[in-house]
Amino acid sequence: MATTTTRTNPLSYLTDQLNELKQKGTYFKLRVLDDEQAPVCTFDGKKVINLASNNYLGLTTHPKLREAALAATRKYGVGSGAVRTIAGTMKIHMELEERIARFKNVEACVVFQSGFTANAGTVSALLGKEDFIVSDELNHASIIDGARLSRAKIKVFRHKDVAHAEELLHEIKNESGRKLVITDGVFSMDGDIGALPQLTELAEKYGAIMMVDDAHASGVLGRNGRGTVDHFKLHGRVDVQVGTLSKAIGALGGYVCGTRDLIEFLYHRGRPFLFSTSHPPSVAATCIAAFDVLEQEPERIEQLWDNTRYWKKELGALGFNIGGVNTPASETPITPIIVGDGRLTMDFSRELFKEGVMGTGIAFPTVPEGKARIRTIMTATHTREELDQALDVLKRVGKRMGILG
Ligand SMILES: *Cc1c(COP(=O)(O)O)cnc(C)c1O
Repeated sequence: MATTTTRTNPLSYLTDQLNELKQKGTYFKLRVLDDEQAPVCTFDGKKVINLASNNYLGLTTHPKLREAALAATRKYGVGSGAVRTIAGTMKIHMELEERIARFKNVEACVVFQSGFTANAGTVSALLGKEDFIVSDELNHASIIDGARLSRAKIKVFRHKDVAHAEELLHEIKNESGRKLVITDGVFSMDGDIGALPQLTELAEKYGAIMMVDDAHASGVLGRNGRGTVDHFKLHGRVDVQVGTLSKAIGALGGYVCGTRDLIEFLYHRGRPFLFSTSHPPSVAATCIAAFDVLEQEPERIEQLWDNTRYWKKELGALGFNIGGVNTPASETPITPIIVGDGRLTMDFSRELFKEGVMGTGIAFPTVPEGKARIRTIMTATHTREELDQALDVLKRVGKRMGILG
């Protein structure tokens, strides 16, 4: 006979922590998109100007990409059926890797399920317990997790502080372990560009491996969006280039570019590659089409930068703090509106939404305490009219809430 036992919920501490977030004003509900990821779209039933997506070039809805996905689905079905090393390497996966390697002008490329797994899987595979990782303090969470998984000793330098990075490298110069210098190409919260040329020189001087995470630079910086290595003309000097297929490329995935041996090694030792199923063929096909578009429609990137210049100029003219004072100055389509207080930022974001503008509030611990912000991201497909409308709303709500003087 079944008896009912009462027990206290072992997960009740989660409820306590959520209540704490609610008290602090930083609790959020997920906003749900009803239609396509586009400059104007419908979240939670409300039509808004979207300033929050990473869809830099509007490729999420590009007809050629859509068609490529549909054609691949018809031809190859919806799934790959296995991890890459068992039975889940389809011809189209190899084609994508070759396409990216050609685009980036490197020997070889491996595609992971996401940018996150590309970083975490690569850093943790390349380094071990005896090794050292010299890392910018604002590097992405996936780099931090990869570094921890590697069990290497982690040395963090102050944001873009090259002298500090050198100090750390100098301290370990007589250690026998391998050394990795790693930076984001574009920092995702402030939109500034990593100190790639100087760090590359340091890596050369101290015999370290040089690695860059170009998630926000893929499709945005460099010729046709080839990334920061191309932007800074550092060809052949950065050992490991990571990019994402989930942002400007419009679909999903991450990739690592480098020598043939680096890629073969990751085929054998990259844990997400070995232990997690590969992309559906539609994703690979979409991404191949995206690289064709990057080469055939450079006007998209020009329009992105046109919009970015206009947006920064107008936001600054309104009197918003768009970074550069006590925070890094943005140099890319990511433009933060620094508010400071976490609760005020979240309230600001909610009020903007009510008036038809989607700008995500970002607070501690994603950004430092006291530097909460609305992060805006420009795309190539926003029209001037939409931008002016968004600026109107930002001005009105900013004044009403005392964020603008
Ligand atoms: C978004 C991002 C990633 C993760 O990329 P996904 O493809 O979304 O997993 C990695 N690094 C940086 C700097 C990012 O901004």
